[in-house]
Amino acid sequence: MLDLIAFDADDTLWHNEILYSDAQERFQDLLAPYGLDGRARRELYETEMHNLHYFGYGTKGFALSMIETAIRLSEGQIEASEILEIIDLAKGMLSSEVRLLDRAPEVVAELAASYPLMLVTKGDLVDQERKVAQSGLGPYFANVEITSDKSEDFYRALLARHQVAPERFLMVGNSLRSDILPVIALGGHAVHIPYHVTWAHEAVGAHGGATREYAELEDIGLLPMFVQQLCQGDGAGDS
Ligand SMILES: [Mg+2]
Repeated sequence: MLDLIAFDADDTLWHNEILYSDAQERFQDLLAPYGLDGRARRELYETEMHNLHYFGYGTKGFALSMIETAIRLSEGQIEASEILEIIDLAKGMLSSEVRLLDRAPEVVAELAASYPLMLVTKGDLVDQERKVAQSGLGPYFANVEITSDKSEDFYRALLARHQVAPERFLMVGNSLRSDILPVIALGGHAVHIPYHVTWAHEAVGAHGGATREYAELEDIGLLPMFVQQLCQGDGAGDS
């Protein structure tokens, strides 16, 4: 049996990465007049990785990384009006409508009837709170955890705080790095539901060196059946 089912939010319940891919494309177009060809996107990723330590995850940090990259790559030639365009790009991301993944609301409602649910997400506090509110899914979650990172230590502390044994915990998410590997390392259950776009930072190789098995579902619509089988001791692919 399970005492707690936790869901990742971005690209598990609602679309997110697609906003970043679109922004990266527009960023590249913005810098095209400076003769950078394909370099802008790659350099932006490098800057983001370097800045994670300072800014954490989310759109605000992404915006600052875009500005830094634009100034550096244009050797200071970028116009103030173009910096403003970058800021507007980020504001557009922060005010874009939340688009739920197909079947996500039905599945969350169905599982909430039988299990306590938790939402566990990284990112900017204000932005994630806005998305939870706009999604309409908030009432189904007994707890919403917005965290700076999803490490093994984070999950260990989370489970201790909620007095849930790892073997009675199931995490559902699209990122192997953040949602799956740390949870199975602790002895919990995890279901990976890949999204069609994965941020390079979250991508890990096949099974990512996992020692335990986790389940992979093609579609969140398959989750209630999986949970039922798991609770009957027949969890397909999970040990
Ligand atoms: Mg995600």
